[in-house]
Amino acid sequence: MAPMARPKICLLFAGGTIGMVKNPRTGALQPATEAAEIIRDIPGIQKYVQLDFKMVVNMDSSNMNPGHWTQIAKSINKYYDKYDGFVVAQGTDTMAYTGSALSFALQNLSKPVIFTGSLIPLTEIGSDGRNNLIYACLTAALDIAEVCIVFANKIIRANRAKKHHESFVAVFHSPNFPFLGELGRPTKLNEWRKRRRKRTLKFNANFDPKISVLKLFPGFDPIILEKVIERGVHGIIIEGFGPGNVPFLENSIIPQIEKATKMEIPVIIANQMEQGITNLKAYEAGLSAAEAGAISSKDMTTEATVAKLMWALAKSKNRSEVKHIMEKNLAGELED
Ligand code: ASP
Repeated sequence: MAPMARPKICLLFAGGTIGMVKNPRTGALQPATEAAEIIRDIPGIQKYVQLDFKMVVNMDSSNMNPGHWTQIAKSINKYYDKYDGFVVAQGTDTMAYTGSALSFALQNLSKPVIFTGSLIPLTEIGSDGRNNLIYACLTAALDIAEVCIVFANKIIRANRAKKHHESFVAVFHSPNFPFLGELGRPTKLNEWRKRRRKRTLKFNANFDPKISVLKLFPGFDPIILEKVIERGVHGIIIEGFGPGNVPFLENSIIPQIEKATKMEIPVIIANQMEQGITNLKAYEAGLSAAEAGAISSKDMTTEATVAKLMWALAKSKNRSEVKHIMEKNLAGELED
């Protein structure tokens, strides 16, 4: 693809360390009041791209909720035709959730949406934010058409990413899918990335946050699951053991899975492995959950599973429709 003449890039600011300053009293990082000024100060970038800045929110990403995902997705949808690419700056703590959510809200992209942020505020010497922002803006002009995270030298499919380590080189990793590209001299884009071509954007930025995520541990009391069901959640994700195994003898949670299924509440089994793929057919302990109605998260990260379940539930409360959505590949988040 021929390089574009000074591509138009829209930078949406949604907070995180990159726009924070140190509170002189406590020493803790908190959002700066003048984040817009901080971001405008990327030296020389306008020589390569026409960069516009839009403020969405400025907060620690731990405070973000699905309402903010919708806000960011709506901004991108609103300005979609005006720009060649989008950059979203936000905190790293929940970036993999927001990135996953946007990959479902904005399907069939014909241009990139690049998330980035930093470990050290832009205002501090030695900040990784400056380079991350510059490379995110440059990547937003490349031949990519999906939601990605650009951090250090990696281009990662956002719905495959997990926050990994607070180090300059490996903040995010992609346990079940190879990197889309590597920034360097020269920058290398891998063939499995989605490329720019004319597609009609499928926009749906609704999320139903009324879900619960439970992590199993040896001795898990089934009452916990019972209580979650009684609370009236619309969907449940259970991180099982190994490839998604659950207790089915003493402390069995099978009756609760059956109960939720009867009540049309989808129960998704995910896993706790570092590089995990859920497989409910490997052991009796997984099969019994599947037979009780549990749905497999397959090779999705828990972050992508959360965002996708919320997105699916906003579309339908019918359990088998949600199952169908969860098991289908919508935006490269799983292999079906
Ligand atoms: N706590 C910060 C946030 O997620 C961390 C970061 O920006 O890296 O907002």
